[in-house]
Amino acid sequence: MKKNEKKYQVRSRSLLDFIDKSPTPFHAVKTLKDQLKKAEYVELYEHEEWKISAGGQYFVVRNDSSLVAFSVGSKKPHDSGFKIIGAHTDSPNLRLKPNPVYVKNGYVQLGVEVYGGALLSTWTDRDLSLAGRVILKVTNEKSSKTVHDKYKSLPSLDNYGCVTRLVKFNRPLLRIPQLAIHLNRSVNEKGLVLNPQKHLPPILALVDEKIKTEKILEELVAKELKCKPSDILSLELQLYDLQKGSFAGANDEFIFSSRLDNLASCHAALVSLLESARKDLATRVLVFYDNEEVGSVTAQGGSSPFLKDILERISVDENKPREAFMRAVARSLFISADMAHGVHPNYLEMHDANHLPMMNSGPVIKSHSGQKYATEGVSALQFEELCFKAKVPVQNFAIRSDLKCGSTIGPITAASLGIRTVDIGTSMLSMHSIREMAGSKDQEKLVLVFKEFFKSK
Ligand code: ZN
Repeated sequence: MKKNEKKYQVRSRSLLDFIDKSPTPFHAVKTLKDQLKKAEYVELYEHEEWKISAGGQYFVVRNDSSLVAFSVGSKKPHDSGFKIIGAHTDSPNLRLKPNPVYVKNGYVQLGVEVYGGALLSTWTDRDLSLAGRVILKVTNEKSSKTVHDKYKSLPSLDNYGCVTRLVKFNRPLLRIPQLAIHLNRSVNEKGLVLNPQKHLPPILALVDEKIKTEKILEELVAKELKCKPSDILSLELQLYDLQKGSFAGANDEFIFSSRLDNLASCHAALVSLLESARKDLATRVLVFYDNEEVGSVTAQGGSSPFLKDILERISVDENKPREAFMRAVARSLFISADMAHGVHPNYLEMHDANHLPMMNSGPVIKSHSGQKYATEGVSALQFEELCFKAKVPVQNFAIRSDLKCGSTIGPITAASLGIRTVDIGTSMLSMHSIREMAGSKDQEKLVLVFKEFFKSK
């Protein structure tokens, strides 16, 4: 902690640090895991039999990119319900295709796909790098066995063992250069139009006789991970911006960073659970899903049975397992936390005049009559009460009636579990830009409300 730093500054600094460590969902889950392990949470594996005890603290990972953590209450879930906060680990970005490398006019370039609703123009002229998941071959008989014991979620391949490693290059490797204005005279009037196939492939290198271009990525990764290029079985690499998050504004009232949507909610939920009293009557749960930005329909996304599977396993009652689970869900509240649209002073006409969330003015309850948000009267009141008790102001958001509304994991979870849900979030600007903007005081406010939720009754 820096000298004279206020509580909210410490909180936002810890958020920026969390985001800098987490350029991909794989890294976000690793960062979450590290903090949970430090707090003595025990990792469980889905394919194993679980022995869960009251007061125990556990977490489960799926595909290295989604995570559920829970702290078991002293009362059975069917008597106390679950207190659940959910968020997503993914953010819009550019991802490498399976065979990304190609040469064009002396440049080595990488084929990319757009993941989610990225604001594409913001990816140009930035210092970009690569991060992601790598699967390595382990040929040594003995070590392959050890590795398998440790990485239980990996499939056993017939001929060799394999191990998952994360990679993050900490230097600028790539750039998507904009066309000079002299060659694109109307760009300021017409806006920058980018064809993802044609205009987004970043430049990685100049062709060099000494370097084998087709293996250039494997060579780079192998050097970083200190392994042989031939050990690399699979690469899942994503682009990210090297610029670290920072405080900003005349009075440090803002934070500028990548991936505030939605690592800010993941961070707030995690620290709230870790800083709450260890004991509670109710079972407290965090769920962090991957793939929200592409619709959630994956094995580890919001549409998967990941959360449901775990809640069922926690609420097992020897006599009436199904009924115990249903009773537990009927007593529960799910807080779906995702970022909210703050009012943009240059585009006031894009907002509804009675719903203008401001930064640093507390969390926003998001409602939509078309149910793109799962908030309803009772869940909104429950959340307002938490804010009131935590002495944190609360705001409301509804989209203009003539605009299409975005969605969250809220409605998907509400519908699949039949659980009472409220959609909330911190207001921000530049959502889905490579560099987003939020208020520096809102993270602490959100944490106070979440801690109120997790407080023992
Ligand atoms: Zn989001």
